[in-house]
Amino acid sequence: MNTNANKMALVTGASRGIGAAVAERLARDGFTVVVNYAGSADLAEALVRKIEGAGGRALAAQADVSDPAAVRHMFDAAEAAFGGVDVLVNNAGVMTLSPIGETDDASFDRQVAINLKGSFNTLREAAKRLRPGGRIINFSSSVVGLLQPGYGVYAATKAAVEAITSVLAKELRGRTITVNSVAPGPTATDLFLNGKSPELVDRLAKLAPLERLGQPEDIAASVAFLAGPDGAWINGQTLRANGGII
Ligand code: NDP
Repeated sequence: MNTNANKMALVTGASRGIGAAVAERLARDGFTVVVNYAGSADLAEALVRKIEGAGGRALAAQADVSDPAAVRHMFDAAEAAFGGVDVLVNNAGVMTLSPIGETDDASFDRQVAINLKGSFNTLREAAKRLRPGGRIINFSSSVVGLLQPGYGVYAATKAAVEAITSVLAKELRGRTITVNSVAPGPTATDLFLNGKSPELVDRLAKLAPLERLGQPEDIAASVAFLAGPDGAWINGQTLRANGGII
């Protein structure tokens, strides 16, 4: 029997990129999936149809994760549709690169609002609502280890996510809920590719000893491990899924 059957996973930012691959993979592993998105309704609905076409169960749910009321409403809708939430994947995120001296307020505020406050908003709901045996998987980034110039604000939001991961893991003592982070390296999505020349993409791809970019499916496999039965003993950790770049 599939041990994930009758379990529900809510994946934020699942219309595109890594989140879409995570939603598809968790659905294949037996989870019912809530496909959260901010603006890409068409992509989210198409992914739901694809999951359903493959025999899975899914629902698209619009919510800007930086909006606490929208996040509460999304959890309400997920519970109303499927009875309860077992897995939260906090994947939604944005990245804007600029040296700290040249970073404007809007860029700082947006990255903090979506990457940090957005993760906090869903974690607060999950802390109150996740069913026993649940799993929380946050999204950090390997830039927290690499600390390259230009990544200051983005890396700071992700370092904060790693900190809150370990704190929440301890706060959920006694609930049989694990809280971990996945920290991808360069992965072939809009977030990484947009604005980079092919030469720069190639150079960054070669940095890892495995000498390629991560694919969204590589990261989805790490999330599936943490969300599934084999990940049960991993708690309060950050898993760097990056081909060995750091
Ligand atoms: P993409 O830009 O490809 O996709 C981002 C997703 O997040 C989209 O589904 C988007 O929805 C959603 N999103 C953006 N803002 C919000 C919001 N306010 N509320 C809800 N959803 C939102 O990014 P990736 O797939 O590359 O990134 C996924 C995660 O992985 C992020 O947390 C990122 O920081 C992290 N990461 C990525 C790396 C990479 O190299 N790609 C490396 C390390 C970490 P919509 O389509 O509706 O706009």
